[in-house]
Amino acid sequence: MIVANPKPISEILDMIKDLKKILILGCKGCVTVCNVGGAKEVGILASTLKIARIKGGNPVDITERTLERQCDPEYIAQVKDIVHDFDGVISMACGVGPQFLSEAYPKQRFFPAVDTTFFGGAVQHGIWAERCAGCGTCIIHYFDGMCPIARCSKSLMNGPCGGSAGGKCEISKDVDCIWDMIVRKKMEQGRLDDLVRFKPSKDWRTARDGGPRRSIREELVI
Ligand code: SF4
Ligand code: SF4
Repeated sequence: MIVANPKPISEILDMIKDLKKILILGCKGCVTVCNVGGAKEVGILASTLKIARIKGGNPVDITERTLERQCDPEYIAQVKDIVHDFDGVISMACGVGPQFLSEAYPKQRFFPAVDTTFFGGAVQHGIWAERCAGCGTCIIHYFDGMCPIARCSKSLMNGPCGGSAGGKCEISKDVDCIWDMIVRKKMEQGRLDDLVRFKPSKDWRTARDGGPRRSIREELVI
C-alpha cells in the first residue's frame, strides 16, 4: 500500500488560515490502513483544527466526509454537489487524492493533510517500512523476492557496497542492509552462484526516470 504520515497541525493551520468554511475529505483506501486519513482521522483533524482556530479567535466551520477512494473519478464525483460550498477542501488521501480532486474541480482549492512517503507495509503494529519504489519492471526474482532498488540506500544492483557491518547499512544502524540479507539467503540455500550469473541491464525507462507514467490495459479501456 501507499504509506503516508500526518502533516504537522501547524502546517495545515497555516495553509487554511484565511478560510472560514472547509470540507475535510478522507479516503477509505491505503491511508485508512496506515491510520492517517480515514473517517476516524478526519474527525480528529476536524476537532483539532476547530479547537485551534477558536483558541486563535478565528473560528472555522468544518464539514467531514470520507470517500471510498480518491483515486477514482466515480468516487470523486460523489462530492460534485457540495464541493463548491466551501472556501477550500483538505484532502487526507495520499498525494493522488488532492490532484484528482483538483483536476475534477478546477475552480476549487485543495490542500494536502498528509505527507505521502512510500510503497510498503506494516512490519510491526504502528511501524511501516518501504518495500517497493515502483520501478515499473520488477526484477526481484533475481534476488529471492527482495528489492535492492527500494531497500538498498544506494539502489545497488550488485551489492553489497562494502559499507555494510553486522547486517546493517552504513547510513544507519537502524537500517538493515538488504544486500547482506540477499547474500545470506543465497548462502543458506546454497545458491550464492546466482549472484555471479549474468543479469540483463535494468530497463529504467519504465521507472520515474522516464518521466510521468501511464498504465494502459487495453482490455479495460471503454
Ligand atoms: S524491482 Fe521495482 S517493481 Fe519490483 S519491488 Fe523493486 S522497485 Fe518495486
Ligand atoms: S550498506 Fe548495504 S544497504 Fe547500505 S548502501 Fe551498502 S549495500 Fe546498500
